[in-house]
Amino acid sequence: MKVYLSVDIEGVACVTTLKQEPGDYERARKWMTAEANAAIEAAYESGATEVVVADSHGSMRNLLPDELHEDALLVQGSPRPLTMMEGLDGSFSAAFLIGYHSMSGTANGVMAHTYTGMVYALRLNGIPLGESGFNAAIAGHFGVPVALVSGDDTVDAEVGALLPWTERVVTKWAISAWSARNLTPKASQRRIREGAARALRRLPEMKPFTLEQPIRFEVELAPPYLSQIGADIPGVERIGGRTLACTGADMLEIVRIWRLILNAGQGRI
Ligand SMILES: [Zn+2]
Repeated sequence: MKVYLSVDIEGVACVTTLKQEPGDYERARKWMTAEANAAIEAAYESGATEVVVADSHGSMRNLLPDELHEDALLVQGSPRPLTMMEGLDGSFSAAFLIGYHSMSGTANGVMAHTYTGMVYALRLNGIPLGESGFNAAIAGHFGVPVALVSGDDTVDAEVGALLPWTERVVTKWAISAWSARNLTPKASQRRIREGAARALRRLPEMKPFTLEQPIRFEVELAPPYLSQIGADIPGVERIGGRTLACTGADMLEIVRIWRLILNAGQGRI
């Protein structure tokens, strides 16, 4: 049994900011690594033969390799074709999303956003999705179910509505975008360890999140220049001042187009 982890940072317990006091980020990446380790330990104790961990925040070089479970394989750095799900394929039995956050626009969600601060909304086949849902659809392409999600109570609600069978661990309760009532890091790690073990016991109940193909992708972008630049990509049309749309054969094609839109926008040419 192979288990895949995609690890973000905003949903980790006691992470409520990434850039205020000196040391905030360094502490956050230490707790991020410890929460990943809790899930990796439980996966190996539950019979996993291989655990692949994708560092999936920002630069994608946050997890501390020296502190990471020594038997995990670490996917780090970018660019990479499957972004937050790089390294996943159909040989895995389960995917875990650790340290995740709710979608852009979620009231009070701790650091709620969708990929960048420039995305208002993202939809696949008309379904509004955050990073958890979009990445679950990538896993679904390979027939892999998302078995565990950890993060604040707002991502818990988001995932519960979309993938109700998923095992979920609440690491903190959101008060505002930069405030939460948190579990301590150790308590959060313990709950993730227990949740990961439960998720793998309940694996037969888990379902891959699959979308009818071809897949319609729509994204609403905050700055008008982004929708203007994105519309230059063949197959992408601008259907509103800030909205781009396209249809892809499958999730692999959708991810390629989505990365093109994001990467094109950063150049601002
Ligand atoms: Zn992140």
